[in-house]
Amino acid sequence: MKTDGHKRLVIPGPVEVRPEILEAQTEWMIGHRSSAFADLFARLQGKLKQAFQTESRVFVSGSSGTGLWEGASRNCIRDDQKALHLVGGAFSERWAEVSNLNGKDVDVIEVEWGQAHTPEMVADTLKKGHYDAVCVVHNETSTGVTNPIQAIAEVVNQYEDTLLLVDTVSGFLGAELRVDDWGIDIALTSSQKAFALPPGIAFAAVSDRVLERAKAVTNRGYYFDFIEIEKSLLKNNTPSTPPIPLMFAADRQLDDILNEGLENRWQRHTEMRDLTHQWALSRELGLFAADGYRSPTVTAVANTKDFDINEMAKFMSGKGFSMDKGYGKIKGKTFRIAHMGDMQPSELEEVLAGLDDFLGV
Ligand SMILES: *Cc1c(COP(=O)(O)O)cnc(C)c1O
Repeated sequence: MKTDGHKRLVIPGPVEVRPEILEAQTEWMIGHRSSAFADLFARLQGKLKQAFQTESRVFVSGSSGTGLWEGASRNCIRDDQKALHLVGGAFSERWAEVSNLNGKDVDVIEVEWGQAHTPEMVADTLKKGHYDAVCVVHNETSTGVTNPIQAIAEVVNQYEDTLLLVDTVSGFLGAELRVDDWGIDIALTSSQKAFALPPGIAFAAVSDRVLERAKAVTNRGYYFDFIEIEKSLLKNNTPSTPPIPLMFAADRQLDDILNEGLENRWQRHTEMRDLTHQWALSRELGLFAADGYRSPTVTAVANTKDFDINEMAKFMSGKGFSMDKGYGKIKGKTFRIAHMGDMQPSELEEVLAGLDDFLGV
């Protein structure tokens, strides 16, 4: 593999992928209707169920996470019903838009960027009318906020006909998530965030309730029709050609993740969050996300020193790191340090030392 000129990715996706995982993609191709593929699919299914902490099933999608947004909205919201989207950052905003663009009727609970959604807000709204689904982002990557999914789930689960759909794209395998115990109907994720795989494949834990609902929805489309995907899944297969090299990589990566242990992995992320906070606060920088809801996988640092973030990124590039320059409407006022995936605390310390050199401290 060419390594010259590589900048280590400290951006919140795609994240740095270990060479052995990249290597796993280079196995000989197999046909997706072969028994070798069915074996791979079944093997992956078992490991994915452990990773999501679910007994039901995990869909494997040849798309990025955005595709599964479309799938979730499309399969779970009936024509004459509505979805409730919890919006508080660039990604939650976009998912609400995706539901809308798929012809769904959408209400939102909007909080200021940097704030979290509380179970009380959701309880108040659900009292007022029926929603087919509540759509929430676990870890809002644009602001570094982790929403209290377990507590929100307790509220949503009081309503039998309301599904809980969770985008855990940048939370999964970095922040605690227990699909069955918490009562989540869909937990969808991409590969290129805390999963630390290359981009191009996405996964969703899907409950039986979702499949029941999907049967009552007309116009589910084809590519993300959950009924079709389930039919294939039962045969250890996918309706269309899947990203086989990425499945090889996922198979290998899940071995390492399950060996590390989910709780250890969550703990490592929490440690990296704390390291980042200590660093930022001791350098008189701020933390953008509300106290109590700060993400274990990504920190949005408030640029209270008003330094030039582009200059910072250029300086860090010279040290071999690819840095984020902020996202959406808070670009310039904040920048994000991703501490997710297979990054170790010692590697994060190298990043922070580089930033110290830039700040001259
Ligand atoms: C990155 C991200 C997405 C979009 O995922 P893609 O894989 O780029 O489609 C959605 N939600 C969140 C929270 C993200 O961080």
